[in-house]
Amino acid sequence: MSRPTVVLEPGKPFVLAPAANMSFEIETGQRLKLSQPEGEQVADLISFNRADPRELLSMHTSRAVNLNWRLTAPHKLYSNRSSEMWHIEADLTAENYCGGGYCSEHLNVARYGDKGRGAPNCQANLEKAISGYGMDRWSFNVDACFNVFMTVAYDPDGTWEIREAKGKPGDHITMRALMPQIVAISNCPILFNACNNFKLKPLTVEILQ
Ligand SMILES: [Zn+2]
Repeated sequence: MSRPTVVLEPGKPFVLAPAANMSFEIETGQRLKLSQPEGEQVADLISFNRADPRELLSMHTSRAVNLNWRLTAPHKLYSNRSSEMWHIEADLTAENYCGGGYCSEHLNVARYGDKGRGAPNCQANLEKAISGYGMDRWSFNVDACFNVFMTVAYDPDGTWEIREAKGKPGDHITMRALMPQIVAISNCPILFNACNNFKLKPLTVEILQ
């Protein structure tokens, strides 16, 4: 049993509503275009080798191979087995957080207190998105998450902080798949920090023809 939430038809953009999640499949050589119609919206993306989902995207490996922590075009992204998974071909915003991680209920409570309880979060979204494959919370980890369009500061004084998203309306990233994959995306639902500039907005997801 393996079921994505959406079957993407090449050339037909799919609108991922604010706070929603999705999974889909992509073939080697196909290009994924992820757009921010209104700008300032972050997508949390994880992906798996379809032939063996124990192999998944790794931001640690991607940083280590590229010797870079601001991955954008024309970098490649790598798996936890150091295989090539994606080639970033275009990236108009050029702000992606590559340290891994996603918002979760426990992290929200730790950072923001009781209001974090029960609030929508990317971990729950990603878990839902992959459930059709018989995968669960323990099929992925924080290292697998590419925070597309997210702005994080690493200031010289040691400050690490999520700052206002910088995406302009219509900005997109295009990534070519370098292996057949299962992809899951959470349209980040967090409103407790500047991640999405305090307003949730749609994303569009398209496999290009
Ligand atoms: Zn999030």
